[in-house]
Amino acid sequence: MPPGSPEQDAATRIGGYFGRTLVVDASDGSARAISLPETVLRAYVGGAGLGAWLLHHLAPAGADPLEPGSPLAFVFSPLVGTPLTTSAKFAVVAKSPLTGMLTDALASSQFAIAGKLTGHDAIVITGRARDLSVLLVDGDGARLTDAGHLAGRTAAQAEEQLRADLGRGWRIAAIGPAGERGVRYATISHDGRHAGRGGLGAVLGAKNIKAVAVHAGAGKVPAADPQAVLAAARDLRARSFGPATAKYRELGTLANLLAFNAISALPTRNFQAASFEGAEHLAEHEHGQEEPSAGIEGIGGAGGSSPRNVLRRVARSGCASCTIGCEHIYRVGGGRKTRVEYENVFALGPMCGVSDPAGVLAASAVCDDLGIDTISAGGTIAWAMECAQRGLIDAPWLRFGDPGALLRALTEIGERRTPLGILLGNGSKAASQAVGGGSAAFALHVKGLEMPGYEPRTLHAMALGLAVNARGADHNRSGAYEADLSGDLDRLAGGDAHVAAAIETEDRAAVMDSMILCKFLRGVFEEPWPEWAALLAAVTGWDVTGAELREAARRIVLAKRAFNAREGWQPADDWLPDRLLTEPLTLPSGREARLTAARLRSMIAAYYKARGLDELGYPGPASDPDPHLPAPQRLCGRGQAQRPGRDPRGPLVDTPGRAGGYWAYGHYCPGKRGDGNAHHR
Ligand code: SF4
Repeated sequence: MPPGSPEQDAATRIGGYFGRTLVVDASDGSARAISLPETVLRAYVGGAGLGAWLLHHLAPAGADPLEPGSPLAFVFSPLVGTPLTTSAKFAVVAKSPLTGMLTDALASSQFAIAGKLTGHDAIVITGRARDLSVLLVDGDGARLTDAGHLAGRTAAQAEEQLRADLGRGWRIAAIGPAGERGVRYATISHDGRHAGRGGLGAVLGAKNIKAVAVHAGAGKVPAADPQAVLAAARDLRARSFGPATAKYRELGTLANLLAFNAISALPTRNFQAASFEGAEHLAEHEHGQEEPSAGIEGIGGAGGSSPRNVLRRVARSGCASCTIGCEHIYRVGGGRKTRVEYENVFALGPMCGVSDPAGVLAASAVCDDLGIDTISAGGTIAWAMECAQRGLIDAPWLRFGDPGALLRALTEIGERRTPLGILLGNGSKAASQAVGGGSAAFALHVKGLEMPGYEPRTLHAMALGLAVNARGADHNRSGAYEADLSGDLDRLAGGDAHVAAAIETEDRAAVMDSMILCKFLRGVFEEPWPEWAALLAAVTGWDVTGAELREAARRIVLAKRAFNAREGWQPADDWLPDRLLTEPLTLPSGREARLTAARLRSMIAAYYKARGLDELGYPGPASDPDPHLPAPQRLCGRGQAQRPGRDPRGPLVDTPGRAGGYWAYGHYCPGKRGDGNAHHR
């Protein structure tokens, strides 16, 4: 049933939920609350899952993500506000301007708690404000205020200014200049943490909303069994100090860098290699030692050589309600500090061939200032560096390994004034389609989302996980690399065990992102499904079991896929870039690491079968229609014939939708995709 229907008007009040969503129209500041039935909350849990359900109901089919009518949802979870460690998180969900498909990104801390205590399980924004604005939401409702004085400010500056303006208790999620300017991988940030992937900052910017500020109201939402929650919180807290989280506490994810380098899983120079000769310079054990610098002005002090201890770790920090504290803070130079994780070092370091640690840290800080996703930024710039190397774009200065070039490219992307900056601000998929010349073959993305730092040719379970995930190439929605790294299967010979591992980790991610618990906590659960069910039961009062949660995970994964199918997903979108399938790697052992198209196709077919999808990957006969979702909407209108059948271009075409037609939820439409929005509605 649709949200807000009369059947829903009996407000749901269960432990952990308010049972309602606030929908704000930024065009005029009006707001309405819609009820969330208990059946929906139990089926989709919260966070990313509930966000997918909301998008199915509230997003107009076929709408451009940057159109005013496209919704952006901040979605909370049943565990937010409890003493359970790592639970202070929220999801931001929208149709991605980078992929044209569903994206959900998670961020942490006090915004999650205050946002939920406004009295809503989600805050959805539609429309477009006339002037740059701040959306304020508290226990009294929603209103817009002018944000003209914040134009062009970084997210951190905007947050600081708004906290000063608004006073105690207000928590702010904001965009940087890149979000205002429509960079398609702009982030939304809160307290230095980012809802990073998929361009959610551009969606908020398209609504002319610089920031969302939330303040807890008077309403509370007690857990069904507070004593059980408290006992579980004490137990989890104790376990969070154990060996399963030691890596995150003591070293942080940067510890992956040398480990991945050693097993040829560290993508280097736009995936032209899988190990990086400069990895040692960027690794943890080098910290505290003097490093060479390219002498970039403003990095590590102007005037040439780097100061000593440029990579010195100066602090450890963590999100609110977290006992792990995985954040490792480093000094950039000039008194500036920044958080460092494996992914930003990978994307701005090896991926771009940069081994100068000062340059990588400075580039990471620039991404934070602009408000852009480091993985997509690094991936797109690496693609451009290879284009420049091949003479496909006129930017001879854009060389692999040059930190000055990296910083210049980031600046042009953020300013969005030069043709190159505009091109790269659209991401590697769109840029490669514009440049042509065969550059799509080495644009390293899936569905338009740039690849994270996991080499699919040497991690075959992860290869499948990256290919089929609804969000695109993302390591947080598929943790299949765990199976590759476990030693239990041959990571160079993908087969049925890899498929099972990809499905299991995708399901676990779907539930953790919906409950929401930090994935860095996952190792402390010995029997995760029943243990997660017990946590949810204590908060909500439901008699939920591990088996029911597994069903919820599957439902959430399929709901994301169904949304994408509605929006024009095609079988060709579940695939990997040509480079990964045509250029084998030679490992130090002499063994060849190759991922063939046939092997990938076979794993995808097995994945579809196990998921109950049809042979093309659409929600098919073996997957019962989800009664909580609207009926599939066939986008092919205007009376054109729809005929079931195979995509005539086959799964190797990497420019879907350019000619010949498109798939609309299981039917091939002979019309040309993109010939007017009306056609898509
Ligand atoms: S483990 Fe790290 S990312 Fe996860 S909640 Fe704690 S500080 Fe935040």
